[in-house]
Formats: sequence, structure tokens, C-alpha cells
Amino acid sequence: MAKGFSPAAVGFKTSPMTLAADAPPRLSTALPRHDWTRDEVRALFDLPFPELMFRAQSAHRQNFDPTEVQISTLLSIKTGGCPEDCAYCPQSARYDTAVAAEKMMALEAVLQEARAAKKSGASRFCMGAAWRSPKDRDLDSVCAMVEGVKALGLETCATLGMLSAPQAQRLKDSGLDYYNHNLDTSPEFYDHIITTRTYRDRLETLDHVRRAGIHVCCGGIVGMGETREDRIGMIAVLASLPAHPESVPINMLVKVAGTPLSGESALDPIEFVRTVAVARITMPRSVVRLSAGREDMSEETQALCFLAGANSIFYGPKLLTTPNPGRDRDRELMARLGLGPME
Ligand code: SF4
Repeated sequence: MAKGFSPAAVGFKTSPMTLAADAPPRLSTALPRHDWTRDEVRALFDLPFPELMFRAQSAHRQNFDPTEVQISTLLSIKTGGCPEDCAYCPQSARYDTAVAAEKMMALEAVLQEARAAKKSGASRFCMGAAWRSPKDRDLDSVCAMVEGVKALGLETCATLGMLSAPQAQRLKDSGLDYYNHNLDTSPEFYDHIITTRTYRDRLETLDHVRRAGIHVCCGGIVGMGETREDRIGMIAVLASLPAHPESVPINMLVKVAGTPLSGESALDPIEFVRTVAVARITMPRSVVRLSAGREDMSEETQALCFLAGANSIFYGPKLLTTPNPGRDRDRELMARLGLGPME
């Protein structure tokens, strides 16, 4: 937990397990595997639902307190006008969406948002910019933001597009804790979603981030018209990275008018829960984030995701440019489920 943060002060109920002085150690000594094959991942997806959930919950309990949820807040520090063509994204300049391009936010405005996020219970503050990759002068401003947010006692995360090795090092030197760069989908389906950068580009950025000593936040989006085989492929790649990402966001596509995926059919919520469960089993020590798409998800589906091993959410009414459940709704849901913020 961030120093000085009080869950009760912001309206969260502290979980009973957090308070239990004699709680048994939960950390499993089993080392996570990095050699998952697609056949093995497919076999997990194909399990009967009760069996899959039992295995996911077992992996979750061996590595985490299942009543704790890590809470992050995400702010768009530079919105819209992006030259990339990610088919799901309303910030691409190539699509006619309601998102207008804006200049980068000023440092003080970002710090004001970070203070508010901390007051509302977030322990990590993520800053997103709609760039293919940052220019060096942009990075000066972002590094100042990272230093300022860190000084507030929050963990810092950034998502700025592709990074070179020296850029990753600069961010590390400014105190950046996490860098988000998603693989989005399987290597095979990737070209249907993005053509302006390759899967290999993404893996290279992840490598630069890891080598700089920054924690990796990397996951994907489901419901983009991919097949189960693509979801299997995406999880198999993530779970076979030399080190598992510390954070694995699993996003449900948010269909935004004007983007090429706006008319995509909805994914079966149970298939979404299965994806979360397989991520939990294959990357047992990673924090699995129930990420975008919660606004359109029933509370029952979200509850199943927590049971399947999701243990992080984005908190706050907006995720970059798309809606997210309000703070009151999240507090109420977490209270109903007996969940509290992760220390
Ligand atoms: S997802 Fe990121 S890189 Fe892709 S279009 Fe949107 S802002 Fe640009």
C-alpha cells in the first residue's frame, strides 16, 4: 500500500484477511513457468467452467490474498491526433470519432489529478499519451510528471507508445515504476488490428523496458472479432515471455463510434471470464487487471472475473477517453463482494 494511504478514509472496507494477524503465508514457492505451449493453454480454455475456476482460484490464493484488489487511476496526458491505426482506438487521427486532438497537459494539472486520485484511494497513477513514440522533448515533460507524481507517494506508470532503449532508461532514471505496452492480440490476428507497427516492434519495446529495470504492464484486448485460438495465442505469448509482466490487463473491447471495430459483435461474457482465468493460471504471480470494458459489463460478470483471479481495476469515471464505472459504483461493488484495496 502507498505510504499514508488509508482505505477506510476513502470509503473502502478493509478486507478481513488483511486484518488477520495470524493469516498463513500465502506466497507459493512454486516458480512460474515460462514454457507454456499453445496446446496447454488451449486445454485450459477447454476445461469445464467449474474446473477452470477452481484451478484459477487455487493459483490466485497461492500467490495473493483473494480479497485484495490493486487500484490504479489512468489519466490521458496527451489526447488524440495519434498517427497509428489501431482499429479499436478513438484517438487515432485516421478515424472520425468524437475525440479531438489536444496538447499535452501542463505539469501542475497532472499533479492535481494525481492528488485527487490518491485521495480517492488509488495506489498507482498511470499517464497515457497518444503517440507512436515520444519525441525526446516530450519525454522531458513526462519525466517531470513522473518525478512529481512519485513525490506524492504514488506508484507511477506510463503508456507512451514505442520506446527506444535510451528512452526507457530516461524514464527509469526519473523514477518510473511501470510501463504499459500491450501486445493487444495474437501474432496471427495482429495485422487485422494494426498495420502501422509490428508485433516485433512491440516485443522490442517490452524488452527495452524490462532491461531498463521498469516493471512491465502488458496484456491485450478481447472481443475484437478474434477467435478463441487468437486469445489462446495471446496468452501463450504473454506467459512465455522471459519474465511475466508484473501487470496483465485484460480488456474487453469498448466499441467507439467512428472506429473500424464499432460494429463488432459482443463477446460472450463467460469467454471473457475464461480468458481472465487462463491468464491467472499461466501467470500466477502477475496482477491481472480487469481493465477497459467494465462500464458495459454486468456486476455479476465482474464478480466472476474477481473469482477467476482478476485482482486489479482502473478506478475513476474515465479510461483515457472511454467511460468507466464511477467511483461510488466501484466502492459499492467491492463492499458487496467483501473486497478491499491491495496493500
Ligand atoms: S492505441 Fe495508442 S498507438 Fe494506437 S491509435 Fe490509440 S493512441 Fe495511438
